[in-house]
Amino acid sequence: MPIEPHDVAEQFARRYAQPPQAVIRAPGRVNLIGEHTDYNDGFVLPLAIDRAIWIALRPRDDRRVAVHSIDYDESREFALDGMTDEKAGWIEYLKATAWSLQQAGLRLAGWEGVLMGDVPLGAGLSSSAALEIAAARAFAKVSNLDWNPAAMAKLGQRAENQWIGVNCGIMDQLISAAGQADHALLIDCRSLETQAVPFPAGTAVVVLDTATRRGLVDSAYNERPSQCEAAAEFFKVPALRDVGLEAFQDHASELDSITARRALHVITENDRTLRAVEAMRRGEVCALGVLMNKSHESLRDDYEVSSDALNAMVESAQAHDACYGARMTGAGFGGCAVALIDAEAAEDFVEKTAADYQQETGNTPAVYVCRATDGASVVEVQ
Ligand code: ADP
Ligand code: MG
Repeated sequence: MPIEPHDVAEQFARRYAQPPQAVIRAPGRVNLIGEHTDYNDGFVLPLAIDRAIWIALRPRDDRRVAVHSIDYDESREFALDGMTDEKAGWIEYLKATAWSLQQAGLRLAGWEGVLMGDVPLGAGLSSSAALEIAAARAFAKVSNLDWNPAAMAKLGQRAENQWIGVNCGIMDQLISAAGQADHALLIDCRSLETQAVPFPAGTAVVVLDTATRRGLVDSAYNERPSQCEAAAEFFKVPALRDVGLEAFQDHASELDSITARRALHVITENDRTLRAVEAMRRGEVCALGVLMNKSHESLRDDYEVSSDALNAMVESAQAHDACYGARMTGAGFGGCAVALIDAEAAEDFVEKTAADYQQETGNTPAVYVCRATDGASVVEVQ
């Protein structure tokens, strides 16, 4: 069962002997299609899921922030003035966000409260972005700031890039801030324009965690953005977003074969993502599923960021009758796959796919049937 507002309020009341003044929720996410396109100024189609980071709080007037993490069973504090990076674990995400908001000239107030979540850590569902956006929403609430989801997402991304030191794109923070219930969000990663796209009736999104994690392949992973940059430079455009399939095919033979395949993935993936939006709008679930399957093939064969475990999971999912389409999701080399299925058969799909994958690989997977939810909000507790 997902965490409910009263669970968080109760944890607060236990520590402070009074109800919280506000409860904040910011969701994790899964990307339906549009993988490794964000840093190419392209298109992504994520949804905010019914797993989230929660904060229950009350304001403080001494410019200090004090937080108890329920999941880590640890209390941490910091002052809003003179913060330094102490590499102190989860609290750094809150400091990072405070730093980023203050860098943008926003005047923050302090607060104290409890923090808890049910976004699995490091599984590719972006618990870190959810935490940054929850922190931003908390600061906005106690400091009476306007809540502009896109602007706050940018500040959250900056926190993650510059304080945490992870070079992520804008997708994770933006979907956590701006998600819409029952919709995926088409994000143009260049303009940051978003369009909510409704899920066809009777479908469910399933996240399939392979229980494997990206290991010592960081260098292989970090190569990808520079290969894309090299390809964009070759075509004399700012980013691969600006290269159409025809223009690519006319000149692909002049590129070395690896760079050409990397570029081919990005160019076809942008096209698939836009076509997926059309398919969703028309309710064509089978067409949408085919695009997801093709996305996986492209990530596996051209972009080469899949893994044996991810391939096994995707094949197990695709083998089930209720599955319209499945693909690896997130950066790759481990983590999760995502499947679009007939909601009525969800239970059978979960059971059989998990069993099949486990038999194939020996790994015990975690499987989540997800609902698309709203982005970050202040939740009223009765
Ligand atoms: P992910 O893929 O989930 O974003 P990251 O490594 O980027 O993985 O972020 C995980 C980190 O975010 C954790 O190590 C922790 O510091 C922080 N975090 C995530 N969820 C929670 C939580 N429920 N409570 C406290 N910190 C959390
Ligand atoms: Mg993260």
